[in-house]
Amino acid sequence: MTKVSNRVIGIAGWGLGLAPALALAAPARPPTPPPAAIAAIGVPGVDGRLFGHLPYVEALPDEVVVVAPGFGIGVPCRMQRDAAADLVRLLDGAKGVPGVAGRLKGVSCYRTVAHQLAVFCHPGRRGIACRDAVLRAHSVGPPGFSEHATGYALDFGIRPTGACRDVDPCIADTPAGKWLLDHAPEYGFELSFPEGNAQGVTWEPWHWRWVGTSIDEPGAARARLVFARARSQFPASPMISDGPAQAAQSGRAGPPAIVLLPGMY
Ligand SMILES: [Zn+2]
Repeated sequence: MTKVSNRVIGIAGWGLGLAPALALAAPARPPTPPPAAIAAIGVPGVDGRLFGHLPYVEALPDEVVVVAPGFGIGVPCRMQRDAAADLVRLLDGAKGVPGVAGRLKGVSCYRTVAHQLAVFCHPGRRGIACRDAVLRAHSVGPPGFSEHATGYALDFGIRPTGACRDVDPCIADTPAGKWLLDHAPEYGFELSFPEGNAQGVTWEPWHWRWVGTSIDEPGAARARLVFARARSQFPASPMISDGPAQAAQSGRAGPPAIVLLPGMY
């Protein structure tokens, strides 16, 4: 097994009590924050999901790089190298497009599990927000259950914001948001949580995950392994096909043909 698949299996074991059986395959690095902090928020179901969200392991610090300087809002946007390269390509592709050029920014990119805990529970209001975990989970992944931890996902925002604030579905009606829906798959990005998704997560036209334009693209096989279960059970829209060098598809197409490895759940 590769290092990557081992780590994926490690996270699957979290929710299903499989960790002991997979101890030899799991990474030495423990998940952070410790499972106890996550258990205080909620207990995953028998399918390993917590409030509908699938479990993910955070990327190692040396796996993520800072994307184009100035792209991240407030803090630098960090992503997996291969995803970052395509994001730069996407931003170049937006140049010259009225209403889009120079306006796409990174609201949030790679987030550690510890950071996700803070985002999910709102420091300072932690008790209140975490008591509303079920409600909160409609729009935010609990720590350990967010695509952002993988380094392959990001939230786009628009600057200046105009009438549409960050992480609001109204982005889909802006020139920049429309351009993303039409063109992001050309750069390897697909929309994780489309409208009416069966996963039960709110429609997030600002949240995109990278899986590469084709399985042959460097890093794409790894990213698709990380998101194998999500892509199989809850297809993105627009989504990217799994075949080599196939064009991106829009609409709710059928699930990609993925062979799930033992322990993926
Ligand atoms: Zn997001």
